Amino acid sequence: MTGRTLALDDALYQYLLDVSLRESPLLKRLRDETQQLPMARWQIAPEQGQFMALLVQLSGARKMLEIGTYTGYSALCMAQAAGEEGRLICCDLPGDYNAIAERYWHEAGLSERIDLRLAPALETLSALERGGHGESFDLIFIDADKANYTVYLEHALVLARKGGLILFDNTLWGGRVLETSPDSADTRAIQALNRGLRRDTRVELSLLPLGDGLSICRKR
Ligand code: CA
Repeated sequence: MTGRTLALDDALYQYLLDVSLRESPLLKRLRDETQQLPMARWQIAPEQGQFMALLVQLSGARKMLEIGTYTGYSALCMAQAAGEEGRLICCDLPGDYNAIAERYWHEAGLSERIDLRLAPALETLSALERGGHGESFDLIFIDADKANYTVYLEHALVLARKGGLILFDNTLWGGRVLETSPDSADTRAIQALNRGLRRDTRVELSLLPLGDGLSICRKR
């Protein structure tokens, strides 16, 4: 069983959580509140949040960017892990969920470190590029509209510093990446991203079967 990644059934997944998840009561409350919302599936899994926090610590990331924030769970994980020097710019559209994110960030004492920009992400990314933020981000997490994933990649490559990390969520897309001629533009975009990353010489790459698939790129 060592030649390939293990498939997790419910019991083994629960075991993984039981022996490794260290979710804070605050994060647990945020996750429970988000579960009541219609788009609850937009939230990342708790073990993924914990992994991303560890990644922030391992890489020493300070200046970070998130595209697609929703109720702020991943942002809270990353900003907390980055410590006092950490700064996170979050891109999302205006919605009822913005207030939930800001309420929990405030409770966590992170309001000063997280800058939520409510506009189409492509506008915010262009503004950052025009504003001299190119080649400056240590870590960029992309979890917004899938149809734009390949466009976000190009912006992320402009904005990330050399050696910076670019993360894409949902790159296994619930298995729909296996469809041969998908009707969904989202599925087609994720397939295109995955195919492109495989041969993209601008990055190092690993696709982790964590949550719904997390692709980690390191800008060369
Ligand atoms: Ca996601």
